[in-house]
Amino acid sequence: MLNLDKSQAAFTEAKTLMPGGVNSPVRSYKSMDCDPPFIDHAKGSKIYDIDGNEYIDYIGSWGPMVVGHAHPQVVEALQKVTEKGTSYGAPTLLESDLAKLVMSVYPSIEKIRMVNSGTEATMSAIRAARGYTGREKFVKFIGCYHGHSDSLLVKAGSGAATFGVPDSPGVTKGTAQDTITVPYNDMAAIEQVITEQGNEIAAVIIEPVAGNMGLVLPKQGYLRRLREITEQHGIVLIFDEVMCGFRASLGGAQAAYGIVPDMTCLGKIIGGGLPVAAYGGKTEIMDMVAPAGPVYQAGTLSGNPLAMTAGIATLSILTAAPEEGQPDFSRVLTIKTKQLLLALQNAAKEAGIKIQLHQAGSMFGLFFNENPVYDYETSAASNQEAFKVYFKAMLEQGIYIAPSQFETLFMSGAHTSEDIAKTIEAAKIAFKAVA
Ligand code: PLP
Repeated sequence: MLNLDKSQAAFTEAKTLMPGGVNSPVRSYKSMDCDPPFIDHAKGSKIYDIDGNEYIDYIGSWGPMVVGHAHPQVVEALQKVTEKGTSYGAPTLLESDLAKLVMSVYPSIEKIRMVNSGTEATMSAIRAARGYTGREKFVKFIGCYHGHSDSLLVKAGSGAATFGVPDSPGVTKGTAQDTITVPYNDMAAIEQVITEQGNEIAAVIIEPVAGNMGLVLPKQGYLRRLREITEQHGIVLIFDEVMCGFRASLGGAQAAYGIVPDMTCLGKIIGGGLPVAAYGGKTEIMDMVAPAGPVYQAGTLSGNPLAMTAGIATLSILTAAPEEGQPDFSRVLTIKTKQLLLALQNAAKEAGIKIQLHQAGSMFGLFFNENPVYDYETSAASNQEAFKVYFKAMLEQGIYIAPSQFETLFMSGAHTSEDIAKTIEAAKIAFKAVA
């Protein structure tokens, strides 16, 4: 039995200090009816709690830790840059270096602005699109999560879905009325909205690979048709690749599916574990942003030198040329993820359980569901009780997965074949506990 005495005491105290004891809801494990381990440190593929338990980590800080925790290259770069001061609030070469690195992999981004969170990136992208088009409405997809800014917290996924507040109190009707929501993967629904209201719609924002209702993949041809129809109506197509960027493939979903969006939001990985996100896209849209243009957006700590450095170090590892004849970094992760999923599928079958497993590069997700999952409704129909049993059995065996079926899991460069073998053995036991 996992001993979590110290974590439980820490959580009891934290609950007197922070709402629900946490600084972001899903960390509380509330939906799993248990208390979270409090983390002391992490290294490579492992994370360690204050009770001394070791876990193989598939959360990876909810996506950023693609090269593994405390990667020596990232740590060394951070140590060096910290000696030079932690923030200047002034232009640095580091900002241009990270911008160039990102744009070399995302050619659809002609100009970029660094911000501190995915929430800021999507909120600012919508504002720029509104400024550019002079239109006020925008479309988002049910179950997609784009951070917690008011107008995007409508029918949202991730923690909002986990805790049953996809439409949060505190978001005014006035704000929500400019957000049009349609089901994911339903081409007829978006076509109808655009046909009827196209000339009032500034933007369509989508997770091109959706990771916040569990991992849900776009149907064949869906993104391409979305590109066509938005283009026809002068609507800015925003790919929110905060999660799937550098994950669905090195060049994100846009490279994997061969679609060029007008704007892209990135986050998580580009900060290498420090708070960085970015929005960017066509020059004519980005030049609407202050001080080039009239759309205001700013940030005291935006482009922070430590955060830029962690991002540069991480992206340098990801984009490094592989040794001759060897697959590149992203390809290795995709292969490892596939190996894990094949074994999980077999283990579930042996236990007589029907599950749905989805993969996009180094992202993966599992649904306790007999039927295909392709949108929020089909995802929400998954068996929550079965997931709870599975989750607890995995945690007990030292496998650290997200405490919700509405989240995605991540493979890192640090996961070894031994980690994967251990995970498969744990899953065999966990599936039996579910059966
Ligand atoms: N967009 C997507 C697709 C996300 O997955 C997230 C967070 O998980 C966000 C935006 C918000 O990012 P942040 O939590 O950094 O504000």
